[in-house]
Amino acid sequence: MRTHSKETQETLTPDLALEILKEGNERFVNNLKANRNLLQQVNETSSGQFPFATILSCMDSRTSAELIFDQGLGDIFSIRIAGNVLNDDILGSMEYATKAVGTKILLVLGHTKCGAVIGACNHVEMGNLTGLLKKINPAMDLETTTTSGRDGSNPVFVNNVTKINVQLSIDQIRKDSPIIADLEQEEKLKIVGGVYDVDNGKVTFFQV
Ligand SMILES: [Zn+2]
Repeated sequence: MRTHSKETQETLTPDLALEILKEGNERFVNNLKANRNLLQQVNETSSGQFPFATILSCMDSRTSAELIFDQGLGDIFSIRIAGNVLNDDILGSMEYATKAVGTKILLVLGHTKCGAVIGACNHVEMGNLTGLLKKINPAMDLETTTTSGRDGSNPVFVNNVTKINVQLSIDQIRKDSPIIADLEQEEKLKIVGGVYDVDNGKVTFFQV
């Protein structure tokens, strides 16, 4: 597997970037790995990086972006925070990754059995975590299909909130970052959502 260069990054379309992620996850769930020499990639990326993807995912120890998409060094800007929530610094990081460095796809990735989403659904309050979990409340409010068991013990409710939380993050990126919204309008960037299943390693991408 070749390390991304300025040339490969420039010629890559957003659709192809999505395909690379899909193929990488396919390898992952089939326990296959692209032939990759990480130490060689240290060398190849020492003078510059040309990643093709920016991924906002949860800090969960099971959801490392490079592993679940079978990618190497210099491939992904990986932004990770509990519950894959947004803040201004993360938006700024995304603007750097997309506008300044030129990644072709921006993926917001939630995952099943997310402790942050479960905590939010249970209205957990603890120190600085309280404010972070409150960022997931709008997704809970928008989940209207579950009439009983609207808490963290109901996996259906939790997974619905997880999906809505991803979609709300995407909406917020478009609204709060004109830079990223413009890149998408110009079709230089694709913004997609997805959910990683911790039971089988599979990423389900939202329809785009
Ligand atoms: Zn999580």
